[in-house]
Amino acid sequence: MAKYTPMMEQYLKIKADYKDAFLFFRLGDFYEMFFDDAIHAARELEITLTKRDSSQKEPIPMCGVPYHAAANYIKNLVEKGYKVAICEQVEDPKSAKGVVKREVVQLITPGTVMESSMLSDQENNYIASLSHFQDGTYAIAYNDLSTGENNIALIKNGWDAVIHELYNQPIKEMVIDSNLSSDSQQDLVDKLHVTLSYQDEVNFNAEFRSLCNNLNDERLMKAFSRLLNYIQHTQKRSLDHLQPANVIELNDFLSLDMYSKRNLELTETILKKGKHGSLLWVLDRSVTAMGSRTLKKWLERPLLNKQQIKDRHDVVEGFYKRFIERDALRETLKSIYDLERLAGRISFGNVNARDLIQLKQSLKQIPELKDILNQFDFNPIRRLSSNLGYPKHLVQLLEESLLEDPPISIKEGSIMKDGYNETLDKYRDASRNGKKWITELEKREKEETHIKSLKIGYNRVFGYYIEVTRANLHLLPENKYERKQTLTNAERFITPELKEKEQLILEAEEKSVALEYDLFIEIREQIKQHIPQLQHLAEMVSEIDVLQAFATVSEENNYKRPRFVENKLSIKNGRHPVIEKVMKDDSFVPNNVSLDQDTNILLITGPNMSGKSTYMRQLALTVIMGQIGCFVPCDEADLLIFDQIFTRIGAADDLVSGQSTFMVEMLEANHAIANATDKSLILLDEIGRGTSTYDGMALAQAIVEYIHDNIHAKTLFSTHYHELTSLEDSLDQLKNIHVRAEEYEGNVVFLHQIKDGAADESYGIHVAKLADLPQPLIERATTILNQLEGSDKAQTTTEKENKAESAQLAFFVEENQKKQPNEKTTNSEVKIIQDLKKMNLFEMTPMEAMNELYRLQKDVKK
Ligand code: ADP
Ligand code: MG
Repeated sequence: MAKYTPMMEQYLKIKADYKDAFLFFRLGDFYEMFFDDAIHAARELEITLTKRDSSQKEPIPMCGVPYHAAANYIKNLVEKGYKVAICEQVEDPKSAKGVVKREVVQLITPGTVMESSMLSDQENNYIASLSHFQDGTYAIAYNDLSTGENNIALIKNGWDAVIHELYNQPIKEMVIDSNLSSDSQQDLVDKLHVTLSYQDEVNFNAEFRSLCNNLNDERLMKAFSRLLNYIQHTQKRSLDHLQPANVIELNDFLSLDMYSKRNLELTETILKKGKHGSLLWVLDRSVTAMGSRTLKKWLERPLLNKQQIKDRHDVVEGFYKRFIERDALRETLKSIYDLERLAGRISFGNVNARDLIQLKQSLKQIPELKDILNQFDFNPIRRLSSNLGYPKHLVQLLEESLLEDPPISIKEGSIMKDGYNETLDKYRDASRNGKKWITELEKREKEETHIKSLKIGYNRVFGYYIEVTRANLHLLPENKYERKQTLTNAERFITPELKEKEQLILEAEEKSVALEYDLFIEIREQIKQHIPQLQHLAEMVSEIDVLQAFATVSEENNYKRPRFVENKLSIKNGRHPVIEKVMKDDSFVPNNVSLDQDTNILLITGPNMSGKSTYMRQLALTVIMGQIGCFVPCDEADLLIFDQIFTRIGAADDLVSGQSTFMVEMLEANHAIANATDKSLILLDEIGRGTSTYDGMALAQAIVEYIHDNIHAKTLFSTHYHELTSLEDSLDQLKNIHVRAEEYEGNVVFLHQIKDGAADESYGIHVAKLADLPQPLIERATTILNQLEGSDKAQTTTEKENKAESAQLAFFVEENQKKQPNEKTTNSEVKIIQDLKKMNLFEMTPMEAMNELYRLQKDVKK
């Protein structure tokens, strides 16, 4: 049997422990990869694949990246979800006998990166562990290594609930036990796009005790230990900044299932997956990165507790009313750096002096922040101020020790202030005196030799030297100088005296640089003792920032503070916060919503494109905004506190996901029915559209009846089955509403106004007209429709088909419509012509006519 070289044997042995990672194997100035790693990495990183000859065996595939450029390659792989094991030479190759000893010093994984270049400021970077138990419960532990945050939740209602909880959170990696069923593992990868890591051995480590004080449940303990074990195993260094685990009681928060998180586009849009166009995009007027991250967390977990909601609203109201103070507050917050991540990096040991200066500058803002908060002269805000601790001694320490503008490196000196440390001052004096002596020497030599251009310089190789240009060499006395280096135009010399001083200067500098480094580390360690305090401060600052963001966005967009009452939901002139923002021109039509003890279900009819879906989403977003503590887009609101929101909205995205629309519809509807309570909000948008008319309508009706009779959840149900409007007669808690549209000279004008009662027409063909379908096609469709309507008077089944057909047609158009956004112009032009025709010139004063004309022209120009 042929053997590998000893080094390859070493490689294989180490690789065996890191099967699921790229092993970056240090060889001199390169990290090399071999075998499948090499083939795979060459493809992913677009680097050249080579071969390495190994005695007798087949050549081994190999590729490598230079040590100094490795960071970018690592980043590239980790961002793609891979792990990279960094294997270093851990002894000096010169003194090594045989193969140099090598060890993996760190495993870099998507969930454990700390480098700011790999992290997004605006988002947490979670690694989560999952544990499952005999009794069917699951425990999830989250950690953000960059901030030290730890959260744990227990999930009692099955696997789906696990996915709903994890969905849409910024989780990069999941640590699981290899016994987790392969279906579940697949689900995690498919639905959450996370990197999976395995940690089967779970040891409760005494080191973690202080982090676990809150955990009184063995299941939570186990999930948390699994996570900590894995982090320890991969990071192999101090994790002092980890915060005690915070137990999340899921029942304390409004729960949003995965469908709602996606459909409502809370933090990202469905199609583009970006923040732009999401609710977060509208609301995020926070000025610090910490604030943005906190806002995102709040959006994921709206509150249920009335008092807590009220507390947030109180502060927002206080901020809202005092613009000048709020502006000052925002300015002050702007000068506060990311304290949370700074704290993380301090305990991780990767901060430089500039980071600590940032820390100092941030901390110095705290007294001012407190001051401004007190100026609001409002108790709920004053309370925030008293919760802000000012670590005065830390600021003092940083102020006394660090120079304002230190270099990036902590190994080159120029970090510490004079007067901070006596020994350092002594070294610096010696070096400064030496340098002064050299300046004087230069002056003396110039005078003695009469060479004006003579100068004393320094470089790393030769140290200090006297430089004389070639033309002046003859002026130098014999034997006094020793020639050291010849340049084209000059010669460089040294003297014993110069070398002696050089020795002193360099020694002093070397010592002072080394001492500065030690002092810096000492300061860093001292700050480490205050990490919990800094973390608390960071949390308070983030909260203040989010609350001011709510006030700012509420004032700018004219949101109103909602009241929370029992049994009644009433919104006056409600608006869709995102669409009104996108429309910009104030053309969004506000609408009322009214639900109470006698009305649980609103059945919404109206033509396509009239605004049914918008109306439904608008309600859900309003509810969420209210329950996170923000004001809401309307003139007045009485809201209910909902425990859960379920949605079945949208059709376009289902086509992408590969599942049939109907299947997705049924899954989402079933999820709502199975989990909703009478405190929940259900939005079902055109359910049953994905199947044939009878099926669809029958199911839609059965679902409404079921919710009405058994669940009593507040429900908005839009439908294109006009037949369902007759349910108002049989279901006493159901009320018909419709979106008004008007027909004007053969064109449909959408007014986007919600009115009581059922809609009377489907308008599908008119929508087709707006979409610029060919005229003959429209005419033909109109003829067919008339025929159908004619033969239909006797209430035969054809009516159903005709309605279905026009709905189908309209659906097709709606999809196309999205691609050609000229609907609005057409729509408003029709309206303008209509207005113009209606104008009664003889009853208007010239001024009125003038005004009206002005308005119309403005509309045309839009
Ligand atoms: P439907 O669900 O009835 O087909 P949508 O809710 O999708 O209609 O609305 C279609 C379009 O009409 C939206 O994209 C939006 O531009 C516009 N729209 C909806 N509601 C309003 C409103 N209240 N005010 C102004 N425009 C609206
Ligand atoms: Mg719709």
